[in-house]
Amino acid sequence: MFYDCVVVGAGPAGSTAAKILSSFGYRVLIIDSKIFPREKLCGGCVSAKIIDYIPQINSLAKASTNKAILSYKKTACLEIESKDPFAYFVERKTFDKYLLDSALENGCEFRNEKLLSLSYDDSGIEVFTNANNYKTIYLIGADGANSIIRKILHIKPKFLVKTLQVETIYYNDSNVNIDIGFKGLNYYWNFPQNGVWGIASTKKNINKLFFKYYGNDMLINPKGYFIPIAFSKKNLGKKNILLVGDAACLADPFSLEGIYNAIFSAHLASASILSYPKNPCQAYSALADKILEENKYSYFISKIVLNFPYFSFFQLSKGNENALADYLIGKKSSKELFWLLLKSLYQKTIK
Ligand SMILES: Cc1cc2nc3c(=O)[nH]c(=O)nc-3n(C[C@H](O)[C@H](O)[C@H](O)COP(=O)(O)OP(=O)(O)OC[C@H]3O[C@@H](n4cnc5c(N)ncnc54)[C@H](O)[C@@H]3O)c2cc1C
Repeated sequence: MFYDCVVVGAGPAGSTAAKILSSFGYRVLIIDSKIFPREKLCGGCVSAKIIDYIPQINSLAKASTNKAILSYKKTACLEIESKDPFAYFVERKTFDKYLLDSALENGCEFRNEKLLSLSYDDSGIEVFTNANNYKTIYLIGADGANSIIRKILHIKPKFLVKTLQVETIYYNDSNVNIDIGFKGLNYYWNFPQNGVWGIASTKKNINKLFFKYYGNDMLINPKGYFIPIAFSKKNLGKKNILLVGDAACLADPFSLEGIYNAIFSAHLASASILSYPKNPCQAYSALADKILEENKYSYFISKIVLNFPYFSFFQLSKGNENALADYLIGKKSSKELFWLLLKSLYQKTIK
């Protein structure tokens, strides 16, 4: 069977790319090893800039927030508020199904199959699943954090962030709560959707850290997965094989938000195929520079916060609430925030 493009993975990245390409008349096949709607371990927090791509996010989301509470070791608090919502909370099961259905409405075909391997040379790409073989001109690797396509291309993440998350029975308000400074943790989060609590860490002993942080009482069945991080052009694919979303390791290294960049990168990869059909990967590398640069600066910010959490909280965050609110709402880039924090650090040091 022959397609113009095969998309592997029907998460936000894959469904977005499949929708765009099929709306331009490409014969697109999207495959996923799971039957939809499917569960996806995720906090479901999407920053407000998603409105550029999903204007109806307000009606798709279960909740939104315009207030974040930052804390240091569960004690000192800093409130960051914005006039408009800076984040929406989606249930991944319904959100991802909605995106896949939108792609199917545009004429792409879906098959519940698992990609096993592929071969590629100058004459084209062949995709082997548990049920069929497909020939295609373009392949979009949207197969998530543990991407088999990324492995076949011998591309590696820069590093992995481990996460553990649990849905609690505990009431939580409508704020996003973020805590920093706990030894070994990047941060802890509490989102206003089903009481989702989680931790992220680059350390090995995440289970131990989880119970050390929360205690044992209310935590039923925490689930974990990893988020791959990189900000290199090498991670975007080869020739006519383009990696998007988690497969390209594009989650934000600081906030660990991955849904927005999954959708954004799918737009860029599709535009590259449509506009530069002879060498889409090269075009995609150029277009994705914006994401890679943002992620590079987010990584720098995460380094400061991880290594100097006390200093970051008490010296850098306080007094910069407006800048942090602008960052959260997407009006300030991580590059701008990074330089602002550095300037603030310099001014406080010479005082
Ligand atoms: C605990 C946790 C909390 C998170 N919280 C947030 C958050 O609050 N906000 C946020 O923005 N991001 C969050 N993330 C990150 C976010 O979930 C991902 O960045 C996002 O899902 C990436 O989308 P994607 O389309 O690239 O991949 P995915 O959504 O992972 O989709 C990949 C798809 O590929 C399919 N697949 C995989 N392998 C194969 C194969 N061999 N054959 C066929 N199909 C295959 C899978 O079944 C899946 O449906 C969180 C991640 C974790 C682990």
